[in-house]
Amino acid sequence: MSKTKYVTHLCPSCGREAKMEIVGTMDGDGHKVWYRCTRCHHSSMFDSAVPKKQDTVLKLIKDECISYSPEKIYTVGQSIYHTDWDDMGRVTAKEKTSNGGFAIVVAFEKSGARRLIENLQAEA
Ligand SMILES: [Zn+2]
Repeated sequence: MSKTKYVTHLCPSCGREAKMEIVGTMDGDGHKVWYRCTRCHHSSMFDSAVPKKQDTVLKLIKDECISYSPEKIYTVGQSIYHTDWDDMGRVTAKEKTSNGGFAIVVAFEKSGARRLIENLQAEA
């Protein structure tokens, strides 16, 4: 003998919070459950599947990335794409190199934090 389970749920038929009797689940999908309202006796199906949590990490979109080239100048927060590494990253800092050049620190998705030359001046 299985006990009849009841839940309180908003009934789509009578539009009220009602005591619903669990009638059964959909075959092969435990998330979809049939309930029968004890008020109006209408059966309704509810999907109890918890919506997937949004990825908190901001995903980089390749189309929005600027392809990396040493001659370009970048700003912190910019998304860049390194064609040779096939890797996307975000500029986290700007630095001056020891020889007076410019560099950016990029947090790459695959390669991790990397230092890249920017604003490269053509040799005179
Ligand atoms: Zn109802």
